[in-house]
Amino acid sequence: MYATGLDIGGTKIAGAVYDNVGTELTRIIEPIPKDYALFLQLCVNMVERLDQACGAKASVGIGMPGVISRDGNTFYAVANIPFLRDGHPFADDLTQHLQRSVRVANDGQCATLAEAFEGAGQGANTVFGITLGTGVGGGAVVNGHIISGRHGMAGEIGHVALPHASAEDGEPLPCKYCPTGCIEGYLSGAALAKRYERLTGDNLPVADIAARAGSGEQAALQVVDAYCRGVAKAISAVLHTYDPDIVIISGGLSVLPNLLRLVNGYVRDYALFKDIETQVVAAKLGALSGLRGAAILGQQG
Ligand SMILES: [Zn+2]
Repeated sequence: MYATGLDIGGTKIAGAVYDNVGTELTRIIEPIPKDYALFLQLCVNMVERLDQACGAKASVGIGMPGVISRDGNTFYAVANIPFLRDGHPFADDLTQHLQRSVRVANDGQCATLAEAFEGAGQGANTVFGITLGTGVGGGAVVNGHIISGRHGMAGEIGHVALPHASAEDGEPLPCKYCPTGCIEGYLSGAALAKRYERLTGDNLPVADIAARAGSGEQAALQVVDAYCRGVAKAISAVLHTYDPDIVIISGGLSVLPNLLRLVNGYVRDYALFKDIETQVVAAKLGALSGLRGAAILGQQG
């Protein structure tokens, strides 16, 4: 039994095939073509090359950005790949060309699925993953399956209004989807950088702010501390809707110094009761979790 995953990013498609114990056998990467016909053809071609690499017809799962219906045929918000908004039944087209069922889900949901099976969420029943990066994404996995919802947007925590928002959270960046300050508006990488700039006048990338906080600079520490309180407020929305066994943080901002310690401390301030057992932990699988999760999704049929 072999499992192929495709991870469609902003500019590239990564594909890999895994054996039945999850060992990656081959990985390939291609740039995303400009129109749907070429895109479909490339996805088919990549799956067939991975079939050849493992010598079998592997199961197929696909992860990609945006809100994607459970059947993989409707795309509600795919900023990077505009031609997918034109109503192409992507999963059905792939199924027809490849003569096998194909599953498609949001990449954050796929990453959470991989973490639930093989990473920080192993053994937990309800796992919620949050990505803190250029954007803020999320996904829920319950009993080993992605919770998709009617449109596929279950777990899109970035576009929930920040709970308990107050002056201490600063000014949110505008979001093209949301009328008022959403979690992404407060907690994206750009929001953190803006906050630091408002305080110091220095316009720096997140990694530099993290380094300044790590070396004890007061302004950076103050911004990181406020950011972590914001993350805890965001997690309170997750706690009271999904009540997960574990919350897994991934993405570029998870490198902020003391993030997990601060968030685990503050999250109790916004929970219904103080002695909650839920732990907020770091993802274990790294940047390939979306690819691996896509393969697991395909295997689930
Ligand atoms: Zn938003």
